[in-house]
Amino acid sequence: MSPGPYRIEHSCSQCGAPVMLEEADRLFTCGHCRVRLYLAAGRVAKYFLPPHSSLRMEDLFFVPYWHLRGAHYSVHISATKSTFLDTSCLASSAPGLPVTLGVRAQAMAMRIAAEGVAGSFVRPTLAYGDMLSRTERTVRSFSGAGRRAGAYLTAFVGEAVSLIYTPVLPAARGLVDAVLNRPFAGSRTVSPEDFGPLEETGSRAVSFLPAICPECGWDMPGERRSQVLLCTNCDRAWQVEGGRFVPLSFVSMEGGGEEALPFWRVEVGIDGMKLDSYADLAELANLPRAVREEWQRRRPAFWAPAFRSRPRLFLRLARQLTVLAPEERSMAPRVPPGKIHPVTIDHEAALESVRLTLAELAVPRKDVLPLLDGVKIKLLDRRLVYLPFTARGGDLTHEALGVSMRRNALRG
Ligand SMILES: [Zn+2]
Ligand SMILES: [Zn+2]
Repeated sequence: MSPGPYRIEHSCSQCGAPVMLEEADRLFTCGHCRVRLYLAAGRVAKYFLPPHSSLRMEDLFFVPYWHLRGAHYSVHISATKSTFLDTSCLASSAPGLPVTLGVRAQAMAMRIAAEGVAGSFVRPTLAYGDMLSRTERTVRSFSGAGRRAGAYLTAFVGEAVSLIYTPVLPAARGLVDAVLNRPFAGSRTVSPEDFGPLEETGSRAVSFLPAICPECGWDMPGERRSQVLLCTNCDRAWQVEGGRFVPLSFVSMEGGGEEALPFWRVEVGIDGMKLDSYADLAELANLPRAVREEWQRRRPAFWAPAFRSRPRLFLRLARQLTVLAPEERSMAPRVPPGKIHPVTIDHEAALESVRLTLAELAVPRKDVLPLLDGVKIKLLDRRLVYLPFTARGGDLTHEALGVSMRRNALRG
């Protein structure tokens, strides 16, 4: 069972009224002044747990924990296994602290760790990649699998990755948990130097952008977790980079159904495997169609859902669309009509999934899987593609492509 979403309490930057958010929320409306703002917090959002009211922020050290939610895959000869992860782990080597956040982040509302927040923010010493391998070891020991247990490859496709800071106070009585204002169990004396280097100025930059199109000033609608905003007036898509809206290349497939689902289409350079054209990809997948000459000239592109879904569905759609390779002839850079599902998976996660898709395509698997771990993948181009699906009963179907899914396999 995955725990409920973490909540964040924030004061509206326009009027100061309290606004309650969830961890993955990006777009919100202030209930008091009605301003609609987009939270531009970077790929890794930073939050902190509020200290006990009797303590002064200035006296406290804020120690980082990684928090990640998403799908973890391990690729075996027989099949690719997946589990949904929601886990935290200490990102600092400071002594005397619990190794995970436990349940406290669910029990109270967090705050946004913006630049101006007082206190000493400790720099994470556990890098993102190291955190993932540590998490994998935990996954393996929980699943009872032995070392790697024959897994050729593991990958994490993240929905949310955050750093959550918990406040502590080095005191004569031992290290104090500043949330509860009492020493940690078995606490010993810790000196400020034990926390290591602090975060540099500018590393916690957060901005709140009005949700209006930078090009034409039109209001941009969107759902709370939307990572991409669309302007229906001038047909542009925007995502946040470096604290501001930047244009994002996108197209929509014409015709078809009334619900548009977003997909990432990434072109990559692959080092360590011959995959220069769609013909190479067809050969890797042992496609039963005769290799057309035109395929030799077509760069291969990898597809991945840009919306949250169950891990198995994510994997299947990525493989299906990569093989189908819908052609751009029927697409235009226009905001699709009808219902538009929000982008809730970023292109970095799509890039993470390329290796998995290669594994899913490979026929026979045993020839290709041993190569995948050493392959280097570099992003060359990315684009968002909206495909129109028809809703019927509990299914969403794209008839022309022959792709369908159960609606309840989407995770809102
Ligand atoms: Zn307000
Ligand atoms: Zn516009």
